[in-house]
Amino acid sequence: MEHSAYCALVDKHRETILDTERHIWRHPETGFKEWKTSAYLADIFERAGYTLTRAGDIPGFYTDLDTGRPGPKLLILGELDALAAPSHAEAVDGCAHACGHNAQCAALIGIALALKEPGALDGLCGSIRLMAVPAEELIEIAYRDSLRRQGVIRYLGGKPEFLWRGYLDGVDLAFMVHTTVSSDTVFSCRAGSNGCMTKEAVYTGVAAHAGGSPHLGVNALYAASLGLQAVNALRETFQDGDHVRVHPILTAGGASVNIIPAEAKLSTFVRGATMEVIRETNEKVNRALAAGALALGAGVTVSDRPGYAPLVNDPGMMAVAKDCMTALVGADKVDFNTSWGCGSTDMGDLSCIMPVVHPYVSGASGIGHGDDYRIADPETACVLSAKAQVMMAAELLRDNAAKAKAVLEGSRPRYASKEDYFAAVDAFIADRSLIVYGDGGAEIQF
Ligand SMILES: [Zn+2]
Repeated sequence: MEHSAYCALVDKHRETILDTERHIWRHPETGFKEWKTSAYLADIFERAGYTLTRAGDIPGFYTDLDTGRPGPKLLILGELDALAAPSHAEAVDGCAHACGHNAQCAALIGIALALKEPGALDGLCGSIRLMAVPAEELIEIAYRDSLRRQGVIRYLGGKPEFLWRGYLDGVDLAFMVHTTVSSDTVFSCRAGSNGCMTKEAVYTGVAAHAGGSPHLGVNALYAASLGLQAVNALRETFQDGDHVRVHPILTAGGASVNIIPAEAKLSTFVRGATMEVIRETNEKVNRALAAGALALGAGVTVSDRPGYAPLVNDPGMMAVAKDCMTALVGADKVDFNTSWGCGSTDMGDLSCIMPVVHPYVSGASGIGHGDDYRIADPETACVLSAKAQVMMAAELLRDNAAKAKAVLEGSRPRYASKEDYFAAVDAFIADRSLIVYGDGGAEIQF
């Protein structure tokens, strides 16, 4: 089937695609809470004849389209979650799709409906797994950690969680297309982007009357603020190519103005271009946080969790995506380059064990994650995105899956197995005091 024929299959479902974008926009839900979003999409899938495997205790589902001929299994993902963004102009219950995942959901519907059309899989081999995945935005860490402690989830992101559950077993290669703010280009892709880990730090001091007897207290807020200054003093040691980002916020710093704060809390990510950079930077950050506590004689504990692994787009997958996107909109509207993004996505976790590509489609306006972000051009963000993705799937799986097989042959994922990958990210898990005070002084453990 020609590219234009695949596009025509998507166009048949244009109304449903655009309705989905609007509906999901009006019903935003944050990660691991996307029950309505997941149900809305699942309903459309089931009405189209799909049999779904639902995660069940968390939102999200997947389904397989088998061509009936042996070959690689390709995964196409759409992300369900919105951001907690109470100041967004169109926030609903404090949430908004300020990252445009509603457009991804709409595109996923377009892909699903187009591929169910008679003849859509003719000439293809292998199978296509379509997946609605929860929780890409790494937010509400305390809530997710509570799910973790209850044993509902093991990982804070939807993709590593789905990977852990075995929902990607047998998948050979994967892609998704994320929305971005419109510019001169329609489609773009970078070489990759940062990974990250999360850290919650709790400083503990001693409460005392702030006016009458501050000498009896230990000020946890001051300890935390010194910790922040020490982290800032580290910044000139970060090397440009490592793309380090450390961006702590103070989340608690006292309850009553006339009490020396006995507790202060910080929350931060440590981001970097490789797992090694993240680990090394984390040691420095722990040292800096401990320095603030030591100055005051306060305690500090950290809870570290794996965030997302660095994303490394596979060059072979990038080439297929670029070709299809160029065929759709022309070379001057496609910008695939070698730059590096400093944000993080859990698509990076999948890139640890299989070839993936994570390009962007324009169609949004405003500032990403900002209060004015919205889908201004749904035709591009949703319909055109679905066309590009159906074309990519066909390109990879046609001619006895020649291109998919070439990608797999040329790809070198960082970890040989998902077990190796999980061992690497689990090494970030830590719950401990950075300082232990004893009779002989303070013992420091970074
Ligand atoms: Zn996003």
